[in-house]
Amino acid sequence: MFTWFDGRHDFLQYVTQIKSYQLEAERYLSSQREVSGYCAACRGVRKFTVNAGVYFGPLPNLREGLVCECGLGNRNRLIYSAIALETEDHADVQMAILERTSVLYRRLQETYPEIIGSEYMGEGAKGGTLYPVGGISVRHESLTELSFSSCSLDLIVHNDVLEHVFNYRKALEELYRVLRKGGTLIFTCPFFFRLDRELQKARILADGSLELLMGPEYHGDPINAQGALTFYHYGWGLLDDLFRSGFADVRVGVQYDVFSGLVSNNHPEYEYGNMLPIIIRAAK
Ligand SMILES: [Zn+2]
Repeated sequence: MFTWFDGRHDFLQYVTQIKSYQLEAERYLSSQREVSGYCAACRGVRKFTVNAGVYFGPLPNLREGLVCECGLGNRNRLIYSAIALETEDHADVQMAILERTSVLYRRLQETYPEIIGSEYMGEGAKGGTLYPVGGISVRHESLTELSFSSCSLDLIVHNDVLEHVFNYRKALEELYRVLRKGGTLIFTCPFFFRLDRELQKARILADGSLELLMGPEYHGDPINAQGALTFYHYGWGLLDDLFRSGFADVRVGVQYDVFSGLVSNNHPEYEYGNMLPIIIRAAK
C-alpha cells in the first residue's frame, strides 16, 4: 500500500515516525543471507536473497538487494507494484517502459503483452528503430527525444534513468507530450529528501564536452559497460519541474513494507543518501 505525499513537510513527519522501526528492521535484514517475503509480481511468498553484491562499505545495498527467486529486487518490485496499482491489472493499457533487456521488462510483459520496451542505444541511434543486443532486437528511445506520437500512451515508466539525463527538463516535457490526457508517468530515481533543489554533479558544455562539477558517479548500464554518469541528485524541486512541464497532479509515494522486502537502500548516512522505497507519480 502506497502512502502519497505532495510536499516535504508531511513526508519528513512520516520519515521521522518510521525511523526507529526502519533502522531496526534493516539491521536485521542486513544480517540475513535469505529471508521469506511477499513478491507482488509472483503474488506469493518467496525466498529473497538479501545481498545482491552491491554495497555501501560493508553494508548491503537493500534497494538493489532483497532479490526474489523471480529475479526482481526491492526497487523493481516497488515499481511493479506501482504499475499494478495504476493499471488495476488491465492488460490492455498503452504502456511504455524505458528498459527492454531487464528482468522487470520480462515480468511485466507476462502480464502486459503489449508493453513497449526500449533502451538508450547511444548518441546517433534513431528513436523507434530496432538494434541487435544479445540476440534480441531492442528499440532505441532517448528520454529527451521520444519517438512516440503525442498523446499516444496511457502510462510511461522509467526506473533510475532520469539522474543520467543532463537536459532532464526536456525529458519531462517529452514524457508529458507522449501521454494522453489523464495518462500517468511513474518513475524511480535516487531522491534526496533533504534537498530542496537538485544538486548538479556534471554538465555538458556548448561544445559538447563534459564538465565534472564534483567527483564522477557512475551507475550500472545494461548497454554501456562504462556505466551511466549521474548528472543530478534530485530533491523536492523535481516536483515543481514536473508541474512546470504541464503535469496536473504530482506526488511522491512510499511503500515501506518489510514483509514485501520494500525497505530503504540501507545507506549508512541517514540524512543524505538513505532512500526510502519511493515512486514519483505525475498525472497529465
Ligand atoms: Zn517474485
